[in-house]
Amino acid sequence: MNLQDRNKVFIDRDKLYGLLDRQAPSDNELNEILNKALKLHGLNIEDVATLLCVNDSCQIEKIMHTAHLVKEEIYGKRLVLFAPIYTGNVCMNNCTYCSFRKDNHLIKRKILTMDEIEQETRALLRQGHKRVLLICGENNKNGTDYMCQAIRTTYAVRENLIKPNGSVIENYIRRINVELAPMEAHDFARLHEEKIGTYVCFQETYDPIEYKRFHPAGTPKADYEYRLTVMDRAQEGGINDVGIGALFGLTDYRFEVLGIMEHAKHLEDCYGCGPHTVSVPRLEPAVGAPDAQNVPHPVSDEDFKKLVAIIRIALPYTGMILSTRENSDMRNTLINYGISQISAGSKTNPGAYSEEESTGSQFELGDHREMEEVINSFIDEGYVPSFCTGCYRKGRVGEDFMDLAKPGLIKQYCLPNALFTFKEYLEDFAHEDTKAKGMAMIKQMIEQYDQKQLVPKIKENLDNIEKGGRDVYF
Ligand code: SAM
Ligand code: SF4
Repeated sequence: MNLQDRNKVFIDRDKLYGLLDRQAPSDNELNEILNKALKLHGLNIEDVATLLCVNDSCQIEKIMHTAHLVKEEIYGKRLVLFAPIYTGNVCMNNCTYCSFRKDNHLIKRKILTMDEIEQETRALLRQGHKRVLLICGENNKNGTDYMCQAIRTTYAVRENLIKPNGSVIENYIRRINVELAPMEAHDFARLHEEKIGTYVCFQETYDPIEYKRFHPAGTPKADYEYRLTVMDRAQEGGINDVGIGALFGLTDYRFEVLGIMEHAKHLEDCYGCGPHTVSVPRLEPAVGAPDAQNVPHPVSDEDFKKLVAIIRIALPYTGMILSTRENSDMRNTLINYGISQISAGSKTNPGAYSEEESTGSQFELGDHREMEEVINSFIDEGYVPSFCTGCYRKGRVGEDFMDLAKPGLIKQYCLPNALFTFKEYLEDFAHEDTKAKGMAMIKQMIEQYDQKQLVPKIKENLDNIEKGGRDVYF
């Protein structure tokens, strides 16, 4: 662990733009990098810069193919599902791309009460969700005290199901991640005590000069360095699982990918473990947000797919998150090239799951499908929808998680745990046709599973779930 590098500004703008000033690779050079990627040790920043300069469609095809192989090898056919709960859309910042910005008078504002958070949680539990992301604008009224209370409220909700035979299934949220404005280490320690999973915060742009343009002076978010070093304070507060990301569309996407690489390296160098997840939000239209209506550096669909594939092979053990900002076609494509976690049935306006009355949403969604429809389409694509929270609840987080993941050991937990949670979903929430399709998929996955010694225990657990057992995991 390199103590003196903590809290250091690890982005050298000129160096990163300099790295992008290069020719596209020859086929031989490209093959060399992709062969290295197939060894699953990741790539260095020069390799990543070289891949980012590829524009030839055959070469892009090769990068995508490599990403597909890496994804299959490490994550197999699983996809973790979650939903956000927006607890408030009041914000003291003025980010030029977001509807929640304080100068936007076109949206209705609200901060949910604890009762309302409970109702939102119940609505998501009734859809079958087990993992939620609490998220909001930055405001004095929803600081750490409020968030701790919100976390406690969400974890405490029990939305019980009565089965046809009269038995009662206890249904509750098993993992809460949070996406909140940067805070101090002592605040993180409090969130840690409340047992959050991952702390997520996007740098928006890693370019310190452009950052100023999108985050006007006089607002807390204007402080680039405070945001850049937030994960160091999270670690200091005891949170080992952190999620990073950039908002694609603000600047040159290639610079942002290099920024993500530098951030991951900084965390690895200082804390022995890179980020748990990388998110790839792409700028969407948003009411009253000038830079969302006129995107400064639009990222084409082709470039977006390429950047996801490059991140996948550069940081093979880092989960990648895609939200409902993207449409169903893009989501179904990217699960093959890198995405391992995906939101489903999401709403970005506070209270939207449980109330008729509409408050302002943060941006326009690309995927409006209900959870079961999303699940059906993933089954059709051959992916097992997973609500697994096993690693986090068994303490397999941060460096411990990576120590298991890198030699491939985590895989023996992942597929079975995915199947257990999927089976729970099918038993408790799915319509008959989805259930039949899902059960066939589980059967097929067990037949193909290479850890044969675990199969009897897996079958025993699945039988147990059929009889009413819940929250079973390795
Ligand atoms: N307010 C906190 C913050 O900014 O750190 C919490 C997260 S904010 C509610 C969630 C994220 O949404 C932002 O970090 C930003 O990257 C993203 N976002 C904002 N406006 C967006 C837009 N128009 N399209 C897509 N993503 C957007
Ligand atoms: Fe507020 Fe976050 Fe939106 Fe910026 S991105 S205006 S900080 S909610």
